[in-house]
Amino acid sequence: MACFFLLTGLSPMAQAASLSLEQPLFIFALILAMIVFAGSILALVFHNAEAFSFRKLYSMLTNLPVAAMIVCSKDGKLMYGNKASRELLGIRKVGNSYFYPPEVEAQMMCDILRPHTSLLSFKSWKEELQFSGKHPLSVFVSGQYVRYKWQPAWLLFISPSNETISPDTTSKREHRVLQGVLNSLSELVYFQDKSGKVMGTNKAYDRFWRDRESEGLIDNIEVSSKNNSTHTWTTSPDGASRLLETNKTALIGDFGEILGSLSISHDVTDWHEMQESLKQEIEKREITEQALAHRNNLLDTILSASQDPIGLYNEHWVYVGCNEPFARALGHTQESLLGKKASDVIDPDKWKEFKKVNEQVIKEGVTVKTEDYVILPDGEPIWYEVATSPYRDPIEGTAGVLVMGRDITERKHAQQQLADAIMELQELSFIDSLTKVANRRSFDEHLRKMWHSHIREQKSLTLILCDIDNFKAYNDNYGHQQGDRALLDVAKTLSQVIKRETDEVARYGGEEFAFLLPCTNLDGGQIVARNIHRYVAQAAIEHAYSEVKDVLTVSLGVATVTPVPNQDYGELVRMADIALYKAKASGRNCTMVMSDNHDF
Ligand code: GH3
Ligand code: MG
Ligand code: MG
Repeated sequence: MACFFLLTGLSPMAQAASLSLEQPLFIFALILAMIVFAGSILALVFHNAEAFSFRKLYSMLTNLPVAAMIVCSKDGKLMYGNKASRELLGIRKVGNSYFYPPEVEAQMMCDILRPHTSLLSFKSWKEELQFSGKHPLSVFVSGQYVRYKWQPAWLLFISPSNETISPDTTSKREHRVLQGVLNSLSELVYFQDKSGKVMGTNKAYDRFWRDRESEGLIDNIEVSSKNNSTHTWTTSPDGASRLLETNKTALIGDFGEILGSLSISHDVTDWHEMQESLKQEIEKREITEQALAHRNNLLDTILSASQDPIGLYNEHWVYVGCNEPFARALGHTQESLLGKKASDVIDPDKWKEFKKVNEQVIKEGVTVKTEDYVILPDGEPIWYEVATSPYRDPIEGTAGVLVMGRDITERKHAQQQLADAIMELQELSFIDSLTKVANRRSFDEHLRKMWHSHIREQKSLTLILCDIDNFKAYNDNYGHQQGDRALLDVAKTLSQVIKRETDEVARYGGEEFAFLLPCTNLDGGQIVARNIHRYVAQAAIEHAYSEVKDVLTVSLGVATVTPVPNQDYGELVRMADIALYKAKASGRNCTMVMSDNHDF
């Protein structure tokens, strides 16, 4: 514009001179100036037109009886609010700025308008605005998308709907919510006014007390501000017996006055039955515990009183009870034994046997009796008859083994003495009491057996009869007792001659001995005969009255037979006897032989 006035301020002469002087540059500048001038004129016209229309709109909006406001669509800020909006919505104007009431934020307006962003206008949109006061304001909002102060904005017209939410509506809504909550309860709820008139019930109450509503009213309970409860037995609609616990609470008004009461009944039958069965269980348990304590006392008394060892171990073979004799028998005290494993206390080999018995006892449920002995610290053995029985703990249900021992040491001793006596008796019946070699009975028995086995096997059997020479003279001169001692010495000497286990020497009678030599032929018999003479000579038992020597000598008759069936063993004895007779006849202290083959 300045440039325009500058150009227009020159004289026509000067303009002509200039044109002629700088023609192209001048024409360009002139065109440019004209364009700028024309643009300025247009801008001024538009500006004035817009300012005019805005002022017109502004005054129109300001006096509009409907609440109107302009809200920035970007950030929800309030750009304008007319008089009606200030009255209806509590909008404030400070200078040229407009403000929402304190409880409203620009962001909230953004959120309300966001659904309409894609449209350029919307009409009669129902909205609840919390603009002023306690209650939300129900309004219809219409909007037009405009540009205001060079910014995109919403021009909003707001008119109250007829359904503005009143305190009464709120209270009805609260009431509905409350009723819904009460109906969802399984408890039976009813309200009464001060006179006892029922003011309301919930669905659970109606269902339970259908057609007998009056039964559900609990009167015998004092209404106070405190909780009071009472228990009532009744029947449910399906006829089952139910116990109700009812709490009645006073409803207090704003000024502390009692308005009525609220009663809530719970079905506590299950709880009651559970309590009852718990009570019974506790009673039963107490009785059982008393019985158990009594039984334990009794058991303790028996255990302590018993001189016999008694012990208990469980299925894991741990000692769980015992008396002192039991612990002592295992080299322990009661305190040191209890809680120990049997395998740690008993010798491993013994435990192996016991374990087998214990397992059988538990598996088959039977009592098994065994015998066992323990050696006391003083080295004295004690024999026990051990009864092992199964037991089951009635309270804990665990299984185990009860071990009871009975001292049978005396019986064992008696048994041993008897066995010894029997043995002695048996020995006596086969052994000569004076000389301690086999007696005649044993010899005959032995000879009979050998005779038959030699018949079967067809082997030679040799018999040597041995007679002390001039023994009568010995007895007569040294006395009978000395004679007995001499007999004993001779028997010992003859026993030493025997080398084979199957050979036997026996006292055949008086001062006569017999040797039975199985599977021995005549040669063998003669070897033994020579040994007999040698041993007796070496024994050198003095016999000053013998016709033969001044020591004892013997005469021997040897007989050998290979027996045949039906042959009598007396044959062998007879032959040996003949041989002996011959030895005597031959001057004594010598051997004569006889066999079924040859005579010598
Ligand atoms: P011979 O050389 O001929 O055999 O003469 P002998 O005296 O030995 O024989 P005799 O049969 O005449 O005497 C046997 C004696 O042995 C008789 C008895 O005094 C003695 N006698 C037999 N049995 C016993 C005995 O058990 N104890 C004692 N002390 N002597 C006995
Ligand atoms: Mg004789
Ligand atoms: Mg003799």
